[in-house]
Amino acid sequence: MFDYMIVGAGFAGSVLAERLARGSGKQVLLVDRRPHIGGNAYDHYDDAGILVHKYGPHIFHTNSREVFEYLSGFTKWRPYEHRVRASVDGQLVPIPINLDTINQLYGLKLNSMEVESFFASVAEPRESVRTSEDVVVSRVGRELYEKFFRGYTRKQWGLDPSQLDAMVTARVPVRTNRDDRYFSDTYQAMPLKGYTRMFENMLDHDNIKILLNTDYHEIEGVIPYERMIFTGPVDEFFDFRYGRLPYRSLEFQFETINQEWVQPVAVVNYPNQHLYTRSTEFKHLTGQEHAKTSLVYEYPKAEGDPYYPVPRPENAELYKRYQTLAEERPDVHFVGRLATYKYYNMDQVVAQALSVYARIVGQKRAEATRATLIAPRKDRRQQRVVLTETQAVVLERKGA
Ligand code: FAD
Ligand code: UDP
Repeated sequence: MFDYMIVGAGFAGSVLAERLARGSGKQVLLVDRRPHIGGNAYDHYDDAGILVHKYGPHIFHTNSREVFEYLSGFTKWRPYEHRVRASVDGQLVPIPINLDTINQLYGLKLNSMEVESFFASVAEPRESVRTSEDVVVSRVGRELYEKFFRGYTRKQWGLDPSQLDAMVTARVPVRTNRDDRYFSDTYQAMPLKGYTRMFENMLDHDNIKILLNTDYHEIEGVIPYERMIFTGPVDEFFDFRYGRLPYRSLEFQFETINQEWVQPVAVVNYPNQHLYTRSTEFKHLTGQEHAKTSLVYEYPKAEGDPYYPVPRPENAELYKRYQTLAEERPDVHFVGRLATYKYYNMDQVVAQALSVYARIVGQKRAEATRATLIAPRKDRRQQRVVLTETQAVVLERKGA
């Protein structure tokens, strides 16, 4: 009998599996319908031997010391500050928009104070900043909004920025200095040997059994458990009772090129060209040395694997109805980006999972996060698929 069945081996599910097993000695069954652990943060070596992120570029950044220290228990880090260029008017310019962006774009030599006045002169005041259009137009005016944000957002979301909550474009700041980092968080780093290796270390515990290639429906009634942690799409859990929650999907197109480098920085955004939003050259992120280089291009889609909740008022309303259903299920904890329908970064999902764990064990989060009941085993890393007997039952049930 398992104490917990955890559905989904991404950050939400893996943090909870780790904490419940290592912190509380619980017996955990971790199930994922994909053939790998790590959820959307999964990385692997491609045919050329280059480390790539299967579900698009994942850059770790956080202001939470607690989250950073927690993950540091499972990986060493490679210091990395993310930089992005936008292809606009035939140039590659820094995004977030900063002093250099304006000077480069308009052939000016403004200083920080002058660029602030420039923004003030083009900004369109808004009484209330409600939408993703308001955020940008009220800060840098319509022209820069159209050059950098309108096209990209329409492509990425299939919606105009005026139809999206302010928080979407507010993720990207505007700067008057020359700081061209994409994030300004205190901690910015990549797991030294990749995300998958970090997940393997997290899940390396005798109390954690992992079952991949398996939808949890396939083992319900076959494998007994006390409680469930669910990290998949919340509307799917309730059989779409109130209709589908919109999630935005992507198609990833990978390419390996027979030269050492292609781009000046890890990511180039294309607000007004191409059907893809951005291209990512992985070696910039991972620090890997290789004579060839691999890139990924992201093509947004309405259908397909759910990747992004879509932040807008009517979706929040619909989610609230599912949240009410979720609250009526004290036997199930809903955690993560899909299960709580929140546009969360990895660190926010880790923080959310640590909070759920603290609630389960009735401790303060800092205390619950640090507690280790059973020392990790250092001599054995791989524990990928261990549930052979159960799997046999499942396969039999599937008629395989
Ligand atoms: P997921 O990783 O989605 O895991 C959920 C898992 O549940 C999946 O593996 C799924 O297969 C499984 N599952 C669902 N239903 C079932 C079922 N019925 N049975 C069995 N298994 C099931 N964050 C950052 O901090 N920095 C970044 O640079 C960054 N870049 C991103 C780029 C892209 C293109 C995307 C899509 C996201 C990015 N993120 C980034 C966000 C990050 O991916 C998420 O915050 C994080 O991975 C969410 O973890 P999760 O565990 O909630 O969900
Ligand atoms: N965005 C944009 N132009 C850009 C970069 C971002 O319009 O060059 C908008 C777009 O709506 C995007 C949002 O800002 O979806 C958030 O960008 P971020 O890079 O954080 O997106 P993510 O990495 O989560 O896909």
